[in-house]
Amino acid sequence: MEKSQKKRIREFLEPYCITQGKGFRLKDHDPTDTQKFTSENKGEAKELLERGVEWLTEAQGKLYAQDRWSVLLLFQAMDAAGKDGTIKHVMSGVNPQGVQVTSFKAPSAEDLDHDFMWRCMKALPERGRIGIFNRSYYEEVLVVKVHEQLLAKQRLPEALVTKKIWEHRYEDIDHIERYLARNGYIILKFFLNVSHAEQKRRFLERLDLPDKNWKFSTADANERRHWKAYMEAYETMIAHTAKKHAPWYVIPADNKWFTRLAVALAIVDAMDNLDLQYPKVGAEKKKELAEARRVLMAEKK
Ligand code: ATP
Ligand code: MG
Repeated sequence: MEKSQKKRIREFLEPYCITQGKGFRLKDHDPTDTQKFTSENKGEAKELLERGVEWLTEAQGKLYAQDRWSVLLLFQAMDAAGKDGTIKHVMSGVNPQGVQVTSFKAPSAEDLDHDFMWRCMKALPERGRIGIFNRSYYEEVLVVKVHEQLLAKQRLPEALVTKKIWEHRYEDIDHIERYLARNGYIILKFFLNVSHAEQKRRFLERLDLPDKNWKFSTADANERRHWKAYMEAYETMIAHTAKKHAPWYVIPADNKWFTRLAVALAIVDAMDNLDLQYPKVGAEKKKELAEARRVLMAEKK
């Protein structure tokens, strides 16, 4: 990528990329922000997204061929913030063989029989692949913190369930991410920051439009009562776990077209830093290729 282009992408991402959590405040992040884009010129944003998707497709091909790094993209958000649509659009051009998406729902009985990281560790992408976590181990310091009765279901030994449990979880998550980074994982964490008002609008749309009825969940709507507790949990979580090797991107999510663009550019930027190349072929292999060509050309028909 050209230097000037890279610089523009960096500047675009700068307000959203949190690499040092200390002092992080959610109120400094506006869910309606769209930078210089407006609903009038959103066509421009869509074009840029298309270019980003093309670039990503190429980068993913190299990532796969090189087979060294793995990319972990993790998405957290309130309901209706647009996780699914963002994943679908941003990954639309990428070879399905190189990507795996895992959605983490409420834990199963088998999951609950293990430590909280267990199910996520099993789903980590192989080298050369992109893994997407649609929700993740971060639910352990979000929904489980907001609804403490969920913690009881985990059947932890009593002596370990102290006031410090959330601090311990932030610390453990941080350590595990550091470990993964040291093993060749590029970790990008996205919080799609939708506003309380926009979520209501989207829920009403799900009620109004017959094709969207299936998406409506009364349980999701009831969770709105805990909005404040969730926002506090998100803020504390980001403050504790945003690191250089595992940044949080707080993406404005009231405009879907903008969310998709910002997420795509964040991935483009991170993959560009890897300076991915197709593996170079050595002298031995070149000889082998020449021989294969000779054999093919010598075929009678
Ligand atoms: P969609 O509703 O668009 O299909 P979703 O991600 O909201 O996507 P759901 O089937 O609603 O999917 O399941 C997600 C639910 O599972 C959320 O309410 C989430 O809080 C809950 N969940 C995820 N991980 C955990 C966890 N570790 N402990 C408890 N609940 C969890
Ligand atoms: Mg849901």
